[in-house]
Amino acid sequence: MSVTIDPGLEIVRAASPSDGTAVRVERITRIYDAGGQPVVALDGVDATFASGTFTAVMGASGSGKSTLLQTAAGLERPTSGRVWIGAHELSRLSEAALTRLRRNEIGFVFQQFNLVGALTVEENITLPLRLSGVRPDRRWLAEIVERVGVADRLHHRPVELSGGQQQRVAIARALAIRPTVVFADEPTAALDSQTAADVLALLRSIVDDHDQTIIMVTHDPLTASYADRMLALADGRIVADSPSTLAGGAA
Ligand code: ADP
Ligand code: MG
Repeated sequence: MSVTIDPGLEIVRAASPSDGTAVRVERITRIYDAGGQPVVALDGVDATFASGTFTAVMGASGSGKSTLLQTAAGLERPTSGRVWIGAHELSRLSEAALTRLRRNEIGFVFQQFNLVGALTVEENITLPLRLSGVRPDRRWLAEIVERVGVADRLHHRPVELSGGQQQRVAIARALAIRPTVVFADEPTAALDSQTAADVLALLRSIVDDHDQTIIMVTHDPLTASYADRMLALADGRIVADSPSTLAGGAA
């Protein structure tokens, strides 16, 4: 490994979890103020996500899925309750420390890929490393580029790629920092069904082969079947928490 890390990051790594828990939320609530009218987006959610597991968060539109993901990822602060990423309890972190933790420990995959159009595929994939001051580990980068199947597209721009290829680049970008957890919000909603199946099989294999933790929001049961576990939300509460019926079998 040729990764060099800044002093702040070293502290983050040193405090990595030892109990096998990647993410934990404890009694989190999130209340939005919609023009003087309170909207309870999350209503006392408790959940633990073990390292190396793939969870699908399901529920109808407006049930709180995205709010749960954003809160668990430290992009939003809960109104009350606590969130841990590894051993870090997020409410104890300053904004600067939280930003550092997000850059160093968390990968994101979005529905609309969110690649930087002016950068090449390779530059997009290594962008999080540059933001966090980590020198790319060439072996790891070569492995993930190969794994997601974009090795022959490294010098292309996102606009020259298909949607499925763009999402594969976004997955490689999320993995580049070797994150504690990857959060994915409807990662296949913008893809046709065959491309979606390929991308889901890729996520599944990353969990199986690299022990990656993935928490994925979807409203689609077939998409959720690639996960190990399904958490269902309704009106900001967990209403079901069960093993995925087709875990591993759908791919
Ligand atoms: P989902 O992702 O399951 O569709 P969300 O987490 O986006 O649900 O939203 C949950 C609830 O919180 C909805 O009622 C939504 O309208 C509300 N909500 C989400 N974000 C905001 C916001 N920024 N301001 C006000 N209300 C919001
Ligand atoms: Mg949503």
